[in-house]
Amino acid sequence: MQNNKKGNIFIISAASGTGKTTLVSRLLKNNSDLRVSVSHTTRQPREGEQHGVHYHFVPKEEFESLIAQKAFLEHADVFGNYYGTSIAGVNRLTEQGFDVILEIDVQGAEQVRNILPEASSIFILPPSFEILAGRLKGRATDSEEVIATRLAKARHEIEQSVHFDYVVVNDDLNTAEADLLHIIKAGRLKKSAQQGFITNLLENS
Ligand code: 5GP
Repeated sequence: MQNNKKGNIFIISAASGTGKTTLVSRLLKNNSDLRVSVSHTTRQPREGEQHGVHYHFVPKEEFESLIAQKAFLEHADVFGNYYGTSIAGVNRLTEQGFDVILEIDVQGAEQVRNILPEASSIFILPPSFEILAGRLKGRATDSEEVIATRLAKARHEIEQSVHFDYVVVNDDLNTAEADLLHIIKAGRLKKSAQQGFITNLLENS
């Protein structure tokens, strides 16, 4: 991490069951200069999820009040619950020089791309629809109907991948993690990310 430099933003989206959360956890574990933005949501915590770690779990009224205060960089209704990225939370991290991952859905990704065109957006794909269906069926808790709905939604989300800067296929976890790291490294070399350095160099020439 470079203390005098603002961090970069990386949007990561994928259809449910693609392994996005596992990949992001690996990236965070292996790169101390990366952080993930902890979103706000109105959905109920799942077993093992902690407030402030996995999400800020808030009631609907509080979420709507935050929307009215323009506290979110983006927000969306996903599967009937609100999810949003706090502007203050992201700024706090980038100002400390951390690169920040926004693990958000395709609607949120579109909003962030419009507001922050310099952010890099990455879509993670499953190797095939059969494999995705198999992974979703592996989650024994979900009924056939829920799985069918998820697959239809996955198809719609995958169609949105054309709007992203990068596409990574999660066939092998190690390869996909290495691909993501290459994208993050390239993002740090974008001229928008290097503007402060260029200005400083010229001022001292
Ligand atoms: P889950 O409830 O399974 O944790 O997440 C459901 C979906 O919501 C996932 O696609 C996840 O990436 C997305 N999501 C999580 N946080 C945010 C957020 O802050 N904004 C948006 N737009 N989507 C989010």
